[in-house]
Amino acid sequence: MAGNIKVFGHKSPDTDTTCSAIIWAWYLNSQGGKAKPYMLGEPNKETAYVLKKWGVERPELLETLDENDSVVIVDTNNPQELPENISEVNVLAIIDHHKLSGLSTKAPVEVMMKPLACTATLMYDMMGANAEKMPKEIAGLMLSSILSDTLEFRSPTTTPHDKEVGEKIAKKHGVDMAAHASEMFAAKSDVSDYTDLGLIHLDSKKFEVGGKNLRVSSVETTTPETILKRKSGIIAAIQALVKEESDTDDVLFFVVDILKEEATVLIYNDLTKQLIKASFDVDVSNDTVVLPGVVSRKKQILPVLKM
Ligand code: MN
Ligand code: MN
Repeated sequence: MAGNIKVFGHKSPDTDTTCSAIIWAWYLNSQGGKAKPYMLGEPNKETAYVLKKWGVERPELLETLDENDSVVIVDTNNPQELPENISEVNVLAIIDHHKLSGLSTKAPVEVMMKPLACTATLMYDMMGANAEKMPKEIAGLMLSSILSDTLEFRSPTTTPHDKEVGEKIAKKHGVDMAAHASEMFAAKSDVSDYTDLGLIHLDSKKFEVGGKNLRVSSVETTTPETILKRKSGIIAAIQALVKEESDTDDVLFFVVDILKEEATVLIYNDLTKQLIKASFDVDVSNDTVVLPGVVSRKKQILPVLKM
């Protein structure tokens, strides 16, 4: 007998990846399917807050996958962010809002992708009239994903449709969006108990740029100074990580100020200097560079990265 369909998103899980897996598993089950959400790592503080707020259980960690497993991938299509043997399992569908990143599957696959700010918004559309049947906690996860991925509609990734869906849910369930978003961002900004290495892995994605394997890490916060004062520790942790991870040549570390809408990137060696100068055409003589208006890795960092 076929087991549950395993629904999961990316490593270094964020709110959208976690909630979208729960939302889609709920939807498949509501349609008579048998699905279960999983996570590829521990939830970050914002995600933990969101799950608690809506009274939803944290998904189990995905330990292993084997070739008999059937899966739905949400919020990524990047093999570097997925289990190593993802191409050997039965991928039923991919639901995502990122650029294509070279995932290979063993059989034809259903793919739904749109350049919306958030996977959960796309799921709202895919559910059609059934979206109205979402219980409050599932709708709450959807709204939280939208607020998280759009940084409360500040990010340039935000489309009018993300906003419309968010506002519709908030109205229907009587959620004060501004208050909820500020609770989420406060939870996200409390990074006191993360190690320096933990900060690097909190929200980290791997990409190839100019023949180099880069980790592009970003920490979204309302209090950037709490992170920037740990600069020397973070740089030491990056250097240790690059030694340890044979497939990572370097790490770009961005601190995103959600409220001021700017990013600060660490400059700590020739490669980061060269990358940031070439990509953003800025003066790199100091050990940090402020990039005004930059808040989105997907739309304002990755597309311009070059050597
Ligand atoms: Mn994500
Ligand atoms: Mn997302």
